[in-house]
Amino acid sequence: MSTLRFHALKETLNRKPVKIEETEQRSSLFGANVFNEATMRQSLTKDAYKGVMDAIEKGTKINRNIADQISSAMKDWALSKGVTHYTHWFQPLTGATAEKHDAFFETIGNGLAIEKFGGGQLIQQEPDASSFPSGGIRNTFEARGYTAWDPTSPAFIYGTTLCIPTVFIAYTGEALDYKTPLLRALQAVDKAAVGVAKYFDKNVKKVNASLGWEQEYFLIDSALAASRPDIILTGRTLLGHSSAKGQQLDDHYFGTIPNRAMAFMRDLEIECMLLGIPVKTRHNEVAPNQFELAPIYEEANLAVDHNSLLMDVMEKIAVRHNFKVLLHEKPFAGINGSGKHNNWSLSTDTGINLLSPGKTPMSNLQFLTFFINTIKAVYEYEELLRASVASAGNDHRLGANEAPPAVISVFIGEQLTKVLKELEGVTKGKLSPEEKTDLKLNVVGKIPEILLDNTDRNRTSPFAFTGNKFEFRAVGSTANCANPMTVLNSIVAKQLIEFKKEVDELINKKDLKKDEAVFNVLREYIKSSKKILFEGNGYGDEWQAEAKKRGLSNNKTTPVALKAKISKKAIALFEGLGVMKKVEIDARYKIEVEEYIMRVQIEGRALGDIARNHVVPTAVKYQNVLIENVTGLKDIYGKDFKKYAKEQLGLIEDISKHIEAINSGVTKMTNERKKANSVDDIEKKASLYCNIVKPFFDQIRYHCDKLELLIDDELWPLTKYREMLFTR
Ligand code: ADP
Ligand code: MG
Repeated sequence: MSTLRFHALKETLNRKPVKIEETEQRSSLFGANVFNEATMRQSLTKDAYKGVMDAIEKGTKINRNIADQISSAMKDWALSKGVTHYTHWFQPLTGATAEKHDAFFETIGNGLAIEKFGGGQLIQQEPDASSFPSGGIRNTFEARGYTAWDPTSPAFIYGTTLCIPTVFIAYTGEALDYKTPLLRALQAVDKAAVGVAKYFDKNVKKVNASLGWEQEYFLIDSALAASRPDIILTGRTLLGHSSAKGQQLDDHYFGTIPNRAMAFMRDLEIECMLLGIPVKTRHNEVAPNQFELAPIYEEANLAVDHNSLLMDVMEKIAVRHNFKVLLHEKPFAGINGSGKHNNWSLSTDTGINLLSPGKTPMSNLQFLTFFINTIKAVYEYEELLRASVASAGNDHRLGANEAPPAVISVFIGEQLTKVLKELEGVTKGKLSPEEKTDLKLNVVGKIPEILLDNTDRNRTSPFAFTGNKFEFRAVGSTANCANPMTVLNSIVAKQLIEFKKEVDELINKKDLKKDEAVFNVLREYIKSSKKILFEGNGYGDEWQAEAKKRGLSNNKTTPVALKAKISKKAIALFEGLGVMKKVEIDARYKIEVEEYIMRVQIEGRALGDIARNHVVPTAVKYQNVLIENVTGLKDIYGKDFKKYAKEQLGLIEDISKHIEAINSGVTKMTNERKKANSVDDIEKKASLYCNIVKPFFDQIRYHCDKLELLIDDELWPLTKYREMLFTR
């Protein structure tokens, strides 16, 4: 066995679970490292506390005097917990999080020093932004970027650093991050939803979008991961024959969590508690060594921050447990990949979940209003929603043979399908008293408060209604949720604005009563957005054909899917709502296309290297062993040797064929890569990488994987699938 593989396995087999002491109840740890409402109430003056709360709830500006008070209280709180540094924590367009630490420590002359943190340092910072991707925004405007405090997401302590969640903006005002457009989209949906919710309850003043993500991931021993250059460089395996046992037996899903993984999870959960991330659910996923972690849902902006933070924390905690966390959407061929379901809903400051059926016909009409408007929004912008989750990694799920498909559709379940059917038959214009009574009693009055039949019925749907929320399942496991959440909240905002306009028109011009007008508009929406509803099997070829007939998009690859982001329709949507200007949209598009190119490029290089430098030399070595054997047989048996060397000769020939195929594949791939690299137009380049370069991956891999089966296990240099998936 190659030394690296041998040592990796030996190390893995000798591991013991790390002992995790839990001395306190989780609830008493919750938020201990967060400068949250409770801490602020304790440590701030009345004025300062009111200033922050107004900023959080109403979006008012915080003046300098109050900022100074807050920063001073924050500093004292942080110092009392052993913190030495602070950082503005933000999410640049790389999708990761970024931080630049500064010490509180400052010299004041005469050899003296103090701990200092002023309001200015809290509110605004200038990171050296030149190496974050800006998609040309900074070149166009020659503007520098700055980070600015987002008081709606509380500051927290991680390690010995005080982290202040911030937006990242160019001096000319363009957003250089994912958070800013999200905040604008959340504002838009708040305003639009309040307008509509007021039809049903005049007291509603604010509507919050909520998000509950479900993070899937793989855990692999760090020594095994380090023995695989493909995992180190690309986060996934580029080759490796499938293990005889994979997930066929379904014995991992919801099974007993392995000890070492359990220790990791407990450690992670405790850290999450301290950071105020309300994680609640943990379980095994379908594939071996695949797991899931889900929190209690939160306000969407905070939930997005918490997911970004979580991904970071996971990697750090994993190191303590000698694990590598694989967040990639498809780390292993032939077994399930990982996603990040985004559960989404809207709720009012009066405590009503607008996507939850209620007790009265009126509250159910409100539910149906938001429910149907969401469906219509998804129908109108299905292609943009698909684009919001496009990435090189996610292409292995969407559009490949894995749930969900690249076609966006909405699953609503049997009961609600029936309700929509009835609503479709509502009379145009004024309704008779009998019809109104009938609707009240038999349609909206009959929706049960809990729609049990919906939950988990259809796992193949990319956008499913699950009783009191929609679940967007096409999001990839590495994604920053801000991207899909910006799109979803924007399209629903736009739709609700449209809806209110139409309802008001019917009330004012056609003299309809409010509920009549609502019924009338909803009826038309059901008719016009029916095509997006699909209750069947999303995997099947039949659905692909049917979806095509319905005119739904089926964008299987990232370069094609991303184009919807810069369509006239998308630009009008975002500009109309004030979520993004064209220059910001173009910049994000460019960055994402370039990111796609780079990912595939790195994979191509890594695969070429492993195939040529690891696989082929090993194949030659083993072939030499065979040749030696055949020569020996010839010495012994002379002319008759073929009788005894038939299999070996066959193997020698097979190995040569595979070597030949690998070498020519790598050469061709490298040539195509060079050609693609010489193209300046990034769309063309992305398309070449997708359609010309990438198909070589499968071809090269096929022959490498065949060799893995032929070659002496003792010689094989790369840790095998069965070792990575089943060694614990
Ligand atoms: P399951 O989907 O497995 O039946 P749940 O329905 O409890 O489990 O929820 C799954 C995820 O959905 C959890 O992260 C949960 O916090 C989230 N969730 C539940 N209700 C809402 C809501 N109103 N808005 C957003 N997310 C929600
Ligand atoms: Mg779920």
